[in-house]
Amino acid sequence: MIQENIKHVEEKIDAACKKSGRNPEDVTLIAVSKTKPISMLKEAYDYGCRDFGENKVQELVDKWEQLPKDIRWHMIGHLQRNKVKYIVDKVYLIHSVDSLRLAEEISKEACKKDVTVSILVEVNVAGEESKFGSTCEEAYKLVEDIAKLPNIVVKGLMTIAPYVENSEENRQYFEKLHQIYVDIVDKNIDNVYMDELSMGMTGDYEVAVTEGATYVRVGTGIFGERNYAE
Ligand SMILES: *Cc1c(COP(=O)(O)O)cnc(C)c1O
Repeated sequence: MIQENIKHVEEKIDAACKKSGRNPEDVTLIAVSKTKPISMLKEAYDYGCRDFGENKVQELVDKWEQLPKDIRWHMIGHLQRNKVKYIVDKVYLIHSVDSLRLAEEISKEACKKDVTVSILVEVNVAGEESKFGSTCEEAYKLVEDIAKLPNIVVKGLMTIAPYVENSEENRQYFEKLHQIYVDIVDKNIDNVYMDELSMGMTGDYEVAVTEGATYVRVGTGIFGERNYAE
């Protein structure tokens, strides 16, 4: 079932690419496996999936220990500074950096472990009160400030769009994030390699792809509904 789901999502991504004149190779599907058991991740892995997304530090570390080391782990959830040290040498990309203080902590721990950590700056494009992320206005300065820190590299931007019935309602936010991205590229800041736009989830990844997403984060569409009560 999981493998069929991934295939289905990949087909939708391909179709969205075709529609918008993009190369499907420029879009990476992240299987968001939070709350799901190892057995399900293995199924996705056997299909060929190498990018997994988690939102809790402990869970990411547990799964990292149990699964093959060629997996690229994406930290997509809010990250507390006191937990940074557990993941700097395990994550491929941290999508959820929304403050200079957090970036400083990542930089500090990365220096200690002698690694370089790639990050995305999370932007709360829709300005929802319940969500983390910098404002659109703050994003530019944040990228510039983080770029000055050692052992941390800004690779792009991430946003979590609102929950909507009609995914077209989120197009404006994806468009806006893409615009901020283009503006930052134009500034040509040292140590900033704006390559990635992480946007789109189960409900709206096709729209996100047509607006330039390079990473889509799909959980429910691959692994089914999550049960947080367990
Ligand atoms: C859980 C989560 C997802 C996946 O959500 P689905 O709607 O299940 O696809 C994507 N991004 C983030 C940041 C998440 O926390």
